[in-house]
Amino acid sequence: MNVLKFGGTSVGSAERIRSVADLINDGSPKIVVLSAMSGTTNSLISISDHLYRNEKQQALEEIQNMELNYFIVISELCRTEASVKRAKEFVQTVFTYLRSFVNKDFYPLQEKAVVAQGEIISTTLMHYYLEECGIPSSLISALNYMRIDKDGEPDYYYIEQNLKRELTAPGVQPLVITQGFICRNAYGEIDNLKRGGSDYSAALAGAAVGAGEIQIWTDIDGVHNNDPRFVKNTQAIRQLSFDEAAELAYFGAKILHPSSIQPAKKCNIPVRMKNTLRPEDEGTLITRESPAKNIKAVAAKDGITAIKIKSGNMLLAYGFLRKVFEVFEAWKTPIDMIATSEVAISLTIDNTEHLEEIYRDLEKFGTIEVDENLSIVCIVGDFSLDKAGRAASVLQALEDIPLQMISYGGSEHNISLVVESSLKQKALVALSEKLL
Ligand code: ASP
Ligand code: MG
Repeated sequence: MNVLKFGGTSVGSAERIRSVADLINDGSPKIVVLSAMSGTTNSLISISDHLYRNEKQQALEEIQNMELNYFIVISELCRTEASVKRAKEFVQTVFTYLRSFVNKDFYPLQEKAVVAQGEIISTTLMHYYLEECGIPSSLISALNYMRIDKDGEPDYYYIEQNLKRELTAPGVQPLVITQGFICRNAYGEIDNLKRGGSDYSAALAGAAVGAGEIQIWTDIDGVHNNDPRFVKNTQAIRQLSFDEAAELAYFGAKILHPSSIQPAKKCNIPVRMKNTLRPEDEGTLITRESPAKNIKAVAAKDGITAIKIKSGNMLLAYGFLRKVFEVFEAWKTPIDMIATSEVAISLTIDNTEHLEEIYRDLEKFGTIEVDENLSIVCIVGDFSLDKAGRAASVLQALEDIPLQMISYGGSEHNISLVVESSLKQKALVALSEKLL
């Protein structure tokens, strides 16, 4: 059994929903994980923002617009009067539910329930459409099996037990449709796997059922060797290892949610990135091992802040780094990159929610400098330590660009550099021209 995930644009219109229905109707058993139609999650978040601010009129207007848009999709998607009516009635219940929040106090818990509606609508419309076409399928609610624990981490045991139970319930068809993104938390409340989390849902479902393959279907033929938004003539990479893919996903390649590699790697399930617009293309295959190549790909991540701590106390001291790291731990802020010298340490973060508190706590240790508007450029390739000249070729390609930090040797397949964001594109282009 394979798990296939289709993103928001792949189900973004009646026409696209129809082509996904064609793709998944090949007779083989599968779990199909869907995102909300593109734009929907953003709209639901914006509606929630209005509700938090008690802007009733704006909330109602936005709910109304969205409902009308869904009515248009339904009239384009469904062929018979009866199925138009059925789908409209369903969508109306969802929007009545959304309107019910307008006169209540609004809390984060309710926001989670509001944003969950996007995936609930897309999967229901797909399921109705398949039924109308006479294609048997079952709609299984992710709220019945997808779960995170108190730390927000997936509860693997619960997911496996419950998904298997749902799949083996009487009458369940080999073609299963389910929601990405949404889940329950440790208290049974509606929650989600954070923005872009549908990939993660698919990977978790794949791991739970021991899938043959986890396929992530998007609008591009696989993971590209550089960012097509900034560099011309990028190419799809045919094979990546889990580790390489994880680095690329984390450091910028928008195509895959970074957490989704973890469950696949844990259960050694191949992940294949496919293009809905060109299904015949083989896409990118991500497996445990992948053929080595000097430089495979480059990606960049914006919104990076560097924090430098200079301290006389660090000289010949032990335990200093621990104290510094504890500050970041206390404020639940992940560190991306680190560079140290004997008298200073530089760290980068992308979540600046607690920057002020972190700054205050670090001041005890020395002088602090904060640098914003930076980007991490991540170069993935074979940097085995016995390969002479590989790192030098990267630095040479970037000889015209001031580098703020360099991280090399952390793994054998990655070099990460920090540059000012205004120089990111120049760096990506230079790496493409000279190395790819
Ligand atoms: N619909 C959610 C989002 O827009 C999840 C996803 O598409 O992966 O973030
Ligand atoms: Mg996505």
